[in-house]
Amino acid sequence: MKRKWTNFDVTILGLSKSGISAAKYLASRGANCTISELRQPTDDDREKIKELEKLHIEVEMGAHKEETVLNSDVIITSPGIPPHTAVMKLIREHKIECYGELELAYRESTRPFIAITGTNGKTTTTKLVSQILTKAGYNAPACGNIGTPATDFLDEDIDFFVAEVSSYQIATSKTFKPHIAVFLNYTPDHVDWHGNEEEYFRAKASLFTERHPAWAVLNAKNLKIAYLKLDILSETYFFNREADDKCVYIKDEKLLIKDKNKQVHEVMKISEIPVKGKHNLENIQAAVAVCYIAGVEINTIREAVMDFTPPEHRLEYVATIDEIDYYNDSKATNCSSTICAIRAFEDQKVVLIAGGRDKGTDLTEFCREVKRNTAAVILIGEAANRFEEALKQEGYDNAYREGSLESAIDKAASLKLGPVLLSPACASFDMFTNFEERGKAFKKYVLKKKKAGPC
Ligand code: ADP
Repeated sequence: MKRKWTNFDVTILGLSKSGISAAKYLASRGANCTISELRQPTDDDREKIKELEKLHIEVEMGAHKEETVLNSDVIITSPGIPPHTAVMKLIREHKIECYGELELAYRESTRPFIAITGTNGKTTTTKLVSQILTKAGYNAPACGNIGTPATDFLDEDIDFFVAEVSSYQIATSKTFKPHIAVFLNYTPDHVDWHGNEEEYFRAKASLFTERHPAWAVLNAKNLKIAYLKLDILSETYFFNREADDKCVYIKDEKLLIKDKNKQVHEVMKISEIPVKGKHNLENIQAAVAVCYIAGVEINTIREAVMDFTPPEHRLEYVATIDEIDYYNDSKATNCSSTICAIRAFEDQKVVLIAGGRDKGTDLTEFCREVKRNTAAVILIGEAANRFEEALKQEGYDNAYREGSLESAIDKAASLKLGPVLLSPACASFDMFTNFEERGKAFKKYVLKKKKAGPC
């Protein structure tokens, strides 16, 4: 419920996009806002700080000052700050009201939220849901973890907030109850933030088991997710497998919806879907379920899906050089998404470029998939040693090591064994600022090679 913010002292932790958005919103409602940020200011930060000070938002850099924290009526925390840090402990000890930016947007709006969570495919599904709803005439922006904070839209006449929601955001949004919530899939990731694997699953599952959205859209093929139905009060749509009850599934090369009366509707033929990969078919099924629940006509859903292109850095086609296709899947920062990307090439064996900052997760499945379905692997970054060792143990002997992304691309090109796929299964921070920068570097070099002509 909307609060009167006049003269409230609010501290926002983190000079991040969502922190800045929350501060601007709260300041416009009369709150006294301070943004507190641990890092020292960069040149970019200094520009932002100037802008914020014009709006009477104070910014403290270099430490979360105890005095500032303790003098706050409310603290808006950033998803980047794990619960075990000193500042979060201090907040808990002093029982200061504290929640995240998504929760703030939820409390300040009366409009329905659609929340999309899971380990992989959140951005793709969020974008698609937003596009289908937009095509149907709704004002339904994609927001949240996808890059535009939900609070940015609080002054707009929104029909649906379509929010990509990370497990961090769920953990910092205690009353957030979406109208429709999607659980796409689950594999261990982000264990460092949550402490352990069970905590990570629980954090995501709590969106369903503790909030009971009016509608839950659950992946029927993942039993851990599917069984959540037993613990929730929500109406449920399954996707990814035919169920007795309401579901979206694929049968006889068609995408189908079974409605509450068990009537089956054809949305489209699989051959009409323009994106690569079984994993994207899963994302599409989830998006179709959401939009059908929201009341969109099947024809509109079909047309919007036909227009869909995956977001940048997700199995993105870059160029063809010497009859070899190059794909940028830099967003694949864990093994399960890389496995999906390799499988998306079905009957072609790819030359995979992988590696980066190692997340330390189990490599068994990854190595098996690489052995079955890649022609060669070029390893880069900090993870190269462990990955190489694991591949050797699997009996795979077509792995190469390179010192940079560019030399890895050259090596992959010189092998001429199949499409070249950058799908690192690792974070990017050892060599790049983020996965976007890694993907852009890949595209830039590939396009430069194309310009240079056949080698
Ligand atoms: P997220 O926002 O959850 O990180 P994205 O849509 O950005 O997900 O996709 C991230 C990576 O995961 C992409 O590189 C893609 O290849 C892979 N991916 C997308 N959808 C799925 C899915 N349903 N299952 C497994 N991997 C997926």
